[in-house]
Amino acid sequence: MSKKHNFSAGPCILPQEVFQKSAEAILDFNGIGLSILEISHRSKDFVAVMDEARAIVKRLMNLGDDYEVLYLGGGASLQFLMVPYNLMRAENGKAAYLDTGTWAAGAIKEAKNFGTVDIVGSSKEQKYSFIPKDYTVGSEYDYFHCTSNNTIYGTQMKSFPKVDTLMVCDMSSDIFSRVIDYSQFDLIYAGAQKNMGPAGVTLVVVKKSILGHTGRTIPSILNYQCHIDKESMYNTPPVFPVYATLLTLQHLEKNGGIAAAEARNEAKAKLLYEEIDSNPLFETFCQKEDRSLMNVSFQLLDESKKDEFDAAWKAAGISGLNGHRSLGGYRASLYNALPIESVQVLVEVMKNLK
Ligand SMILES: *Cc1c(COP(=O)(O)O)cnc(C)c1O
Repeated sequence: MSKKHNFSAGPCILPQEVFQKSAEAILDFNGIGLSILEISHRSKDFVAVMDEARAIVKRLMNLGDDYEVLYLGGGASLQFLMVPYNLMRAENGKAAYLDTGTWAAGAIKEAKNFGTVDIVGSSKEQKYSFIPKDYTVGSEYDYFHCTSNNTIYGTQMKSFPKVDTLMVCDMSSDIFSRVIDYSQFDLIYAGAQKNMGPAGVTLVVVKKSILGHTGRTIPSILNYQCHIDKESMYNTPPVFPVYATLLTLQHLEKNGGIAAAEARNEAKAKLLYEEIDSNPLFETFCQKEDRSLMNVSFQLLDESKKDEFDAAWKAAGISGLNGHRSLGGYRASLYNALPIESVQVLVEVMKNLK
């Protein structure tokens, strides 16, 4: 079967080289006569993987030794509660959240278990069709939390506010996709399965100096400091997802790093948005200035053409184009590993729908 054009929102397409090398490592890792699935996480070969997987993140993000990199289980969703657990003061704890979509709302829900949550901006009433920009965050807050890319509604923060407190960002769906100053953040997290690797591991990048100030007793497994002290091996890490993530990041580094990925991502998004804007049958859900370069959510305006369109993109070898169940319509996820040729195929199908 030939390779499909995979627009899935996550788990998602990864570089073909990553699939190949992962497959080889499952059969025989590093030529040691063992599968990566059966070796100890304390073995020399895996410790080297973990060390490099942590180091490469700091190289790609241009971050210094004041930051630590962790690979944790539990998905980005676990970070919704680990963040307040580790950063919200036990007494009179208070955090500011930007409500830009379903995932941001999920983070808000969990944070409320730990203290006061002020929503400083929200586009919920307008179906999350834009990114709120008119707000300030003062030093009375323990931290500010935002979501850089709204995976479902297709919006993306093009810039980040200057805040008077710690800056925390859920970058699950656009991490490593564009050049930004990563040092403006005190804590970044991202589920790997949307641009970085397979499902099963979550990246956390944290500035060491922000930890240990809340006066809370934090269970060890949920305490960033415990994971830092054990070099991301407090318990058995997700060995294989960490390895596949390392392969993906090595592929990125070899191919021009984030800057080159950004240029490719911009070209892909431009191609698709130009077709959506010029084709009277299609429209995005969100405001133009906030459109995501990663997740292009759009709708077909003439419902009577739905069956024809669905049959056409499937016949063209496209997979994963259906919109999120909460929004409907279509969603083309243009993550780093998606080649522009796949977007060209989709645009051709859209052009041919009359
Ligand atoms: C998918 C997603 C999540 C949830 O990730 P899990 O790893 O499934 O917990 C959180 N935030 C954003 C922005 C996402 O896109």
